[in-house]
Amino acid sequence: MKIDELETIPIAIDRNEVFRISTGSSLTAENVIVKVRSDNVTGWGNASANSVTQESVESILKASEGMRSEVEGKDIELEEVWEKLREKLPGNPAAIAGLDIALHDLKGKLEEKKIWDMYGGREQGVLTDRTIGLMTKTETREHASKFIEKGFKAIKIKIGFGVLEDLRRIQAVRDIVGKDTDIWVDANQAFTPEEAITLCQKLKNLDIQFVEQPVREGDLEGLKKVTSETDIPIMADETIKSPEMAEKICTEELADMINIKLMKSAGLTGGRKIVEIMEDYSVQGMVGCMGETSISIAAGAHLHQTTENLRYADLDSHFMLSDNIASGLDFKDGKLWTSDKPGLGVDVDKEKMEDHRMELEAIS
Ligand SMILES: [Mg+2]
Repeated sequence: MKIDELETIPIAIDRNEVFRISTGSSLTAENVIVKVRSDNVTGWGNASANSVTQESVESILKASEGMRSEVEGKDIELEEVWEKLREKLPGNPAAIAGLDIALHDLKGKLEEKKIWDMYGGREQGVLTDRTIGLMTKTETREHASKFIEKGFKAIKIKIGFGVLEDLRRIQAVRDIVGKDTDIWVDANQAFTPEEAITLCQKLKNLDIQFVEQPVREGDLEGLKKVTSETDIPIMADETIKSPEMAEKICTEELADMINIKLMKSAGLTGGRKIVEIMEDYSVQGMVGCMGETSISIAAGAHLHQTTENLRYADLDSHFMLSDNIASGLDFKDGKLWTSDKPGLGVDVDKEKMEDHRMELEAIS
């Protein structure tokens, strides 16, 4: 695949409201849109600035300059480039994700194939949750009720106030959504292993599908302890940032499930590698997201449709933004639907994208 040009566009889009989790809060989502061109065909990608991989718009743009010489004016092979970039830029998985997603979009368009089809998947829609950040019990209940009205069939609740307060909020959501809605819980590393075990015991009767990242990301012993001593499935998120760590989690049974995010796995190539490991070990999990636009959310939806092992999808960040810069990913009956077009199947609205462009002075 011949690449003529690589372009990066840093953008900032306001969120509809402040999004707060146990490790911090955010009012604006910053992303770098990646554009690759081969003759007159364009592929689009999205790299998200985020605190999990500790990448900023500045570091993503800098890494993209380092990637330019590996692709521009060259005839490339996707996986080969991915391996090279991971070696060259080990601290920039989100930056690599932006390019890797754009290259997948381009390849799909050139071969007239949807991305899920490139990996032998099937189209079935992707049931996604809506996430409720850290907020009071009343606000939590109001948000849950609003999301159910909009058609969502799963609610993810961010926790981290403390076991009792968090339990009250989760109970309030269960009371309002009834028993047919999934409730997922994400602690974002807020607890000690002992607190997490207490929490999980108290959650027993609330029919919770899983608890995500209860303990600090580096506390592998604590993660394993919580996993082995509780009945509710424990999902690793911040702990797993690479296929190598996915392998370790599976072989050492550190967690029951894995949350893949394209910004952590360095894109679809890395995401697929983690999926293959999950399939080998019969481990299930979820595809999640950072504060991304619908460009890379579509990429996550494609990945979801390549395997049965991604049982859940937390692909909701584009719903939280005040503007949507790409069309083609629809939401209907609680599910995201990728379009009939090849590649990612999205159309980027260039005018809208330019409206959100960050000034270069501000990022130099
Ligand atoms: Mg999480």
